[in-house]
Amino acid sequence: MNAFSFYNPVKLIFGKGQLAAVKKELPKFGKKVLVVYGGGSIKKNGLYDEVMQALGEANLEVFELAGVEPNPRISTARRGIEICKKEGIEMLLAVGGGSVIDCAKLIACGATYEGDAWDFVSRKAKPESALPFGTVLTLAATGSEMNSGSVITNEETQEKYGWGSPLSFPQFSILDPTYTMSVPKNHTVYGIVDMMSHIFEQYFNNATNTPVQDRMCEGVLKAVIETAPKLLEDLQSYEHRETILFAGTMGLNNFLQMGYNGDWATHNIEHAVSAVYDIPHAGGLAILFPQWMRHNVKVNPSRFAQMAVRVFDVNPEGKTEEETAFEGIDRLQEFWTSLGAPTRLNYYDIDDSKIDVMVEKAMVYGEFGNFTKLKDEDVKEILQASL
Ligand code: NAP
Ligand code: FE
Repeated sequence: MNAFSFYNPVKLIFGKGQLAAVKKELPKFGKKVLVVYGGGSIKKNGLYDEVMQALGEANLEVFELAGVEPNPRISTARRGIEICKKEGIEMLLAVGGGSVIDCAKLIACGATYEGDAWDFVSRKAKPESALPFGTVLTLAATGSEMNSGSVITNEETQEKYGWGSPLSFPQFSILDPTYTMSVPKNHTVYGIVDMMSHIFEQYFNNATNTPVQDRMCEGVLKAVIETAPKLLEDLQSYEHRETILFAGTMGLNNFLQMGYNGDWATHNIEHAVSAVYDIPHAGGLAILFPQWMRHNVKVNPSRFAQMAVRVFDVNPEGKTEEETAFEGIDRLQEFWTSLGAPTRLNYYDIDDSKIDVMVEKAMVYGEFGNFTKLKDEDVKEILQASL
């Protein structure tokens, strides 16, 4: 294992009826709350009314920032920061998916900062203080509800980067599977691909002797693979929504990463693609991850063969490790295709015309990846194989 320290202060409040906890948790931080939400799904499914009723019962003074877009933009975070500064907001409540939560994280840190919040995303500055915030999660995918990461797009410069700080952990997150029932099929699939990708990012690492971590990753992946097709058959199944919601949180709340240094190269390449083309994050991952894997099998064939055998039930008999590895990657891609995820960038009308721009954006901080370092020619090959 690699040496590690583990820190996760998020109070996770999970299950049916748990929204009521907001009345107890939020008033700990003050009176004035900014509720941050997206393009309207919470108004359609009734959650907005329930949240407002709970905040009213807690006698809080409520301000709102609506319209956080998927792939949240710096301009929207700046609008939220302005409201916080002008109104003297004391805490935030993010109600939505990963995009809303990620945006709230930047607002929370930007609200107590004199400069421009893009400084945090572009690593020019580190937050020294932040407003406290809680979340009510509505989409199983990112794990943002229980981690400190945030991904923000600068629409003017076509940049999209992840950032984070010990100050950007939510104070609490409320997860009631009921509120994920209205997620349409396409976003349900994207969420499943994203959470599986998070686990792969961690599973492909440079550590040795990690049998506990390996089995934990493989176990969560297995549960997702078993549940996903059943959920897509019955999007109203509370049980399957519950399993997938919990898997998404466990996929990226630092538990699986103990003793590993995750790779994260595929996420980095995907951020470059969606910075230029504004495609759904996990749509990009579904296309890029199998290609990243094929590109890197030779780095450590036995790691890929282990995944193939333990997660995708590939029979290794009579095959070399590399053959087993490639069969596992094929099974992964077949699985994602069977759910309805895309396999090629041309699904989003992306051709080779901007490959060099995407390579440049992915390489902005130099070579990257912890399983193996990718250079610009590697990124180019992975993108070309994904067309
Ligand atoms: P999302 O972008 O938050 O939401 C996608 C769509 O689903 C939105 O149109 C949203 O509509 C809708 N939606 C959400 N909840 C719904 C519900 N209950 N019923 C119906 N529709 C619902 O999706 P996400 O996958 O959770 O987040 C993606 C973002 O997170 C990307 O920017 C990605 O780069 C980032 N990310 C962050 C992390 C992290 O650790 N922080 C990790 C991976 C990815 P409304 O806008 O109307 O609500
Ligand atoms: Fe992700």
